[in-house]
Order: sequence, then structure tokens, then C-alpha cells
Amino acid sequence: MPVTVSWLFRRVGASGSHPMSGEFFGEFSWELYWLVAGVLFGAATGSFSAVVLERLPQRRSLGGRSTCVCGRQLAAWENLPVAGWVAAGGRARCCGASIPVWYLMFEVVAAASWGLAGWLWGGLGVAAAAASTLAGVFTVAVARR
Ligand SMILES: [Zn+2]
Repeated sequence: MPVTVSWLFRRVGASGSHPMSGEFFGEFSWELYWLVAGVLFGAATGSFSAVVLERLPQRRSLGGRSTCVCGRQLAAWENLPVAGWVAAGGRARCCGASIPVWYLMFEVVAAASWGLAGWLWGGLGVAAAAASTLAGVFTVAVARR
């Protein structure tokens, strides 16, 4: 089945219509699909938003890998949303600087609310959560420049 807009924005509750339903996953659950998709995208966007909120007001580029306060470039796993913070115990490996807890909270809240939106309203919910989160983050970041 081609990925069309109607496929992407399919309403929650329509089960068993996925091309792989019945064969690999049993009854395909769109609620679960969009819940997981929302959580993953929310965590990633929460992580990206933290970068935007920190760098834009300082007129720094959004590109490039994150560095620790001591200047060391962070490893890829340390940039992982939520898991990176938890694995590091909220402290930088190199210099022991504490990583602000609002990073973690931002990622967790975004993951939870996007996941909830995906669960309740499917792809449209995730898209709405994405639009409102990013609009809010950029508005705040640009206003603080
Ligand atoms: Zn460091």
C-alpha cells in the first residue's frame, strides 16, 4: 500500500488495515503505533528544542554536535533524548558538570504529551503536537535573542 496522506493521517481505531496486519504483528494497533511514534518523535523534538532554546538566544548555529561546558564534544549516545541523561546520571563524564534537569524534563514532557496526542488522535495528533511545540519553542527562542 502506498504511503498516502490518508494512510498517514488515518484515524485511531481502525485496526487491521495495515499491510502487515495479521502476518507479522497480529491485529495491528494504530493507537499503539501512533503512541510509540509520538513518544519517539516527541523525545527527539524535545531534545532538539532544548538545543534551540539554548543556542538561538546566544545567536549560535543550530548545526554541529553538542559540546560539554568544558568544551569536549559529546558522544552520540550522550545526545540521546532521555536515555542519554539517565545513563550519564545527570552528570558529564568528562568534568562532572551537572547537566540541567530541565533538559530531561523537557524531553520527558514532550515525549509523554506527543505520545498521548498520538494515542488519542493518531497522526493528526502527532502533527498538531509537533506544530505547536516547535512554534512555541521558536517563538520563545527568537524572542530571547
Ligand atoms: Zn565536560
